[in-house]
Amino acid sequence: MLQKREKVLLLRTFQGRTLRIVREHYLRPSVPCNSPLCPQPAVCRNDGKLLSSDVTHYMIPDWKVVQDYLEILEFPELKGIIFMQTACQAVQHQRGRRQYNKLRNLLKDARHDCVLFANEFQQSCYLPRERGESMEKWQSRSIYNAATWYYHHCQDRMPIVMVTEDEEAIQQYGSETEGVFVISFKNYLDNFWPDLKATHELCESILQSRRERENESQESHGKEYPEHLPLEVLEAGIKSGRYIQGTLNVNKHRAQIEAFVRLQGASSKDSGLVSDILIHGMKARNRSIHGDVVVVELLPKNEWKGRTTALGENDGESPSEPMPTGRVVGILQKNWRDYVVTFPSKEEVQSQGKNARKILVTPWDYRIPKIRISTQQAEALQDFRVVVRIDSWESTSMYPSGHFVRVLGRIGDLEGEIATILVENSISVVPFSEAQMCEMPVNTTENPWKVSSEEERERKDLRKTHLVFSIDPRGCEDVDDTLSVRALDNGNLELGVHIADVTHFVTSHSYIDIEARTRATTYYLADRRYDMLPSILSADVCSLLGGVDRYAVSIMWELDKTSYEIKKVWYGRTIIRSAYKLFYEAAQELLDGNVDIVDDIPEFRDMDEKSRQAKLEELLWAIGKLTDIARHIRAKRDRCGALGLEGVEVCIQLDEKKNIHDLIPKQPLEVHETVAECMILANHWVAKKIYESFPRQALLRRHPPPHQEFFSELRECAKAKGFFIDTRSNKALADSLDNANDPNDPIVNWLLRSMATQAMSNALYFSTGSCAEEEFHHYGLALDKYTHFTSPIRRYSDIIVHRLLMAAISKDKKMEIKENLFSNKDLEELCRYINNRNRAAQHSQKQSTELFQCMYFKDKDPETEERCIADGVIYSIRTNGVLVFIPRFGIKGAAYLKNKDGLVISCSPDGHSEWKPGSLQRFQNKITSTTTGGESVTFHLFDHVTVRISVQASRCHSDTIRLEIISNKPYMMPDTELFQQSSLLLKSDLVKEVTRSMEEAQLAQEVKVNVIEKDYQKYCQTKGRSLYTLLEEIRDLALLDVSNSYGI
Ligand SMILES: [Zn+2]
Repeated sequence: MLQKREKVLLLRTFQGRTLRIVREHYLRPSVPCNSPLCPQPAVCRNDGKLLSSDVTHYMIPDWKVVQDYLEILEFPELKGIIFMQTACQAVQHQRGRRQYNKLRNLLKDARHDCVLFANEFQQSCYLPRERGESMEKWQSRSIYNAATWYYHHCQDRMPIVMVTEDEEAIQQYGSETEGVFVISFKNYLDNFWPDLKATHELCESILQSRRERENESQESHGKEYPEHLPLEVLEAGIKSGRYIQGTLNVNKHRAQIEAFVRLQGASSKDSGLVSDILIHGMKARNRSIHGDVVVVELLPKNEWKGRTTALGENDGESPSEPMPTGRVVGILQKNWRDYVVTFPSKEEVQSQGKNARKILVTPWDYRIPKIRISTQQAEALQDFRVVVRIDSWESTSMYPSGHFVRVLGRIGDLEGEIATILVENSISVVPFSEAQMCEMPVNTTENPWKVSSEEERERKDLRKTHLVFSIDPRGCEDVDDTLSVRALDNGNLELGVHIADVTHFVTSHSYIDIEARTRATTYYLADRRYDMLPSILSADVCSLLGGVDRYAVSIMWELDKTSYEIKKVWYGRTIIRSAYKLFYEAAQELLDGNVDIVDDIPEFRDMDEKSRQAKLEELLWAIGKLTDIARHIRAKRDRCGALGLEGVEVCIQLDEKKNIHDLIPKQPLEVHETVAECMILANHWVAKKIYESFPRQALLRRHPPPHQEFFSELRECAKAKGFFIDTRSNKALADSLDNANDPNDPIVNWLLRSMATQAMSNALYFSTGSCAEEEFHHYGLALDKYTHFTSPIRRYSDIIVHRLLMAAISKDKKMEIKENLFSNKDLEELCRYINNRNRAAQHSQKQSTELFQCMYFKDKDPETEERCIADGVIYSIRTNGVLVFIPRFGIKGAAYLKNKDGLVISCSPDGHSEWKPGSLQRFQNKITSTTTGGESVTFHLFDHVTVRISVQASRCHSDTIRLEIISNKPYMMPDTELFQQSSLLLKSDLVKEVTRSMEEAQLAQEVKVNVIEKDYQKYCQTKGRSLYTLLEEIRDLALLDVSNSYGI
């Protein structure tokens, strides 16, 4: 019944050139109509999402409406929308992948009442294009034809409104078919949605921007930029090696001047280039925006320039050696997103003068150029953070043009600033929908969740045989992982890792599955988090809480009783009942033999003395054994060169009014490492198993070895202290980092490790079919294969891995399990997406921490406040200043040695600094400031200095911390020593000290839990968590998923 046609696609490239593509095209008698009014749902095969039945009409947007107004069509209030295939394809061809993906997501999203109708595959809807007919006319005609077919298909029972921007189409079709109306988009909104104010504003804003663009292109007063080359020329040029393709990266600190093109794919090999290409100045950037995939032409060598090495915007500093320099000749892929901007103040608007309706707004992200917005609301918007989108950037215009989308919140207001961070990282978290919640299990007092008898038969029951327990941050609700260890009858040991069986509840392609996939991860900001799964799963039926039956996915290893050598491994679904839900500090106390802590463990409270003693002994044995095993496994990895790296983790304490009370670096415990080691072991063994079963479609995680050149700074710094860092292998690096230890200053080792971390590449998820096996290696953990399996509650990667493992052990019995797996190609695309979302999670966490740091110091007088003076360590030398790390707060920042007036720093014999005329001289590991009077002071790497911390406020961007060296001597405060020890080296005393103050803060939080609860509801988070546990969780996350702050 299929008919074959040839379809000629004429694609217009963005330069206006036309490409002719001939495709075979098959027509079918029926395609899904996805309407509840369908007379023959079985024939139409309507097995996907259906339109809702409570609408007054269906709306069919024309191709141009979909292109221009998609963001309005995204409003969930607009219901009953049918997207024609013709319109979707037009979007794909004209607007690129990002816009097309948005459309695809909209169609998939259960919250939006819209469907796709594949009109071009339906034999009565398909119209061949007539000779001489323009693409646009044919598209409108096809959509109209499909609209009338659809109307009749639903037996004329539902009026259809086709919305178009084409006046002729309105004239021609407006009254052709009864029941099918054809009107303009504005008309549609006015008549059908008069009260949906936001859509009217947005529509007006888009129309305005379009009108202005049209006017301008008529006036067209000379070109600001060269035209981009046609796509064919770019592609041929890349092939021949004349041009180079890569992603544009703008230098945040010199956004107007410096950008680099990071080489991509084959480009780097063909061109023989190893370094990035410098793009100097806005002209050479030729309208490309940070993140775009561009095509670059190299300039002749005599025009090459060097990169800047000075701090900040100071001019007149000597740049580095000239490096390959080029100019952008075309853009292959625009990566425009939503941008947060600030409107100019009233005075600035007036100075912008004649074109007062076109306002130049400043993006929050320094790397994005100013954007011209057409609006009459500029004055009303000047105190707010505002979202805009870019529409176009013509060669005649100095700046891109865009339109206003929505207001986020007031500048400087916590909620407005957090919303800014979310938008800037493309994180959108809305409450879980009703459709998604309907898929959730029930667990209430009237209707408690129970283990089903069917699952009881299918699963290995560990409830009576295994002592299972969890170790997590205090108050943790989402317990992903539990542990067990026991002696077997044959004398061997059995180690078990039991992970929440999330995929039992989240079935492939369900609404909740799609939502979790879109979120990809739980986002942890400094003061809040956004969950990947609803709390009924994450904090309840999936969470491996103490004393309740839960489904788990377990790995159990049989170990030799003395050598701990792995003899056997078992994977499978289980039922467990965790006996103890321990918190880290309690587990550590037990490990240290301080049994008094049992009073703080609720499970022990109601026991009589005898059973209490027995149970305690059993638990002590298990924790001790576990730690011993973990040490052993760790030692084995260490021999292969596993890296222990440092990052700075800061805790923020809020007082009752949510003002920041203190910033405290966090402390690790050995028991963290024990748990982490067991998780690493489980991840490693699952990686081996799923790769063995699905060699071309397993999701693994690799950590590429770092580029050697990135290590040069680390080596130089270490040399300054007389240490040699060997970076030839991870083993050599780990060993030499261990040896680079200054007994008088633990910070040195800690800084060196943190530098090593910065030189590392990021660990990445990938599909095994897309990567050669020798590249699977995880450099940081020193493992040949690794994956993420142990946190399915908060990482989507782990959900995929659980499904892979289940398929691997199902022994071909259940084919449908395998059918649900992703193909290599789809998995690779999904991995790229998850990697991208993880970076967004990292950035938003870092940016929110910096926001809190600034709030902590803002409005404090740096001259008088104690907190604003601190000890800092110099960790990098630049031409006009130094980079300083402040251990007490975990802050890193720049301190200038030359100020804006050109004066240089000078220090009196007692250390106090002053600004005087003079000059700076930079050496390898030190910088000397000499005044015209002949006094000089030298700052070396790792010198301790006293810095004053202040906040540089910014209206358009985030505030930043400013550091000023006020003495070249260390700052002596009573607890300096305490903070100097705050590296991994020494634990016990200061851990207790810091923990105690944190716990006090927690108590203060608990009193105020009601107030916070409202906020939690507003941000759809799990309620009732104290700030302390959230922060602990960040650290926990960092330890288990070392990638989070350590780049592994
Ligand atoms: Zn139908």
